[in-house]
Amino acid sequence: MKYKTRLRTLSVRQLRTRRARMARQLPDIEATLRGALHRQMRRCGKAGCRCADGELHGPYIYLSVRTDERTGLLYVPADVVEGVTRRVETTGRIEAALAEISAINIELLARGELN
Ligand SMILES: [Zn+2]
Repeated sequence: MKYKTRLRTLSVRQLRTRRARMARQLPDIEATLRGALHRQMRRCGKAGCRCADGELHGPYIYLSVRTDERTGLLYVPADVVEGVTRRVETTGRIEAALAEISAINIELLARGELN
């Protein structure tokens, strides 16, 4: 765990301050959207289309989504690509913040200072 060494050098007070700040700055969790964005160029398959000569259509944006047992690609319409991209990026920041808050709590627990 990468936080471990760094957190160990902080005082209990510093750890609590850091935890409070991270919790306060947590992005809007309603934005959470887990997945990875992919761009794909595609061939439509129609005879005589420009894509048959290699001039493919697209890019089309897909969100790779993992559910309980499988991974699927969900088409993302052009008018929501920006919003979806922002949500995916926000989700990364939320998850990083939660991981760090948890690491701080583990450190506090190890010192008998979790409360
Ligand atoms: Zn085509």
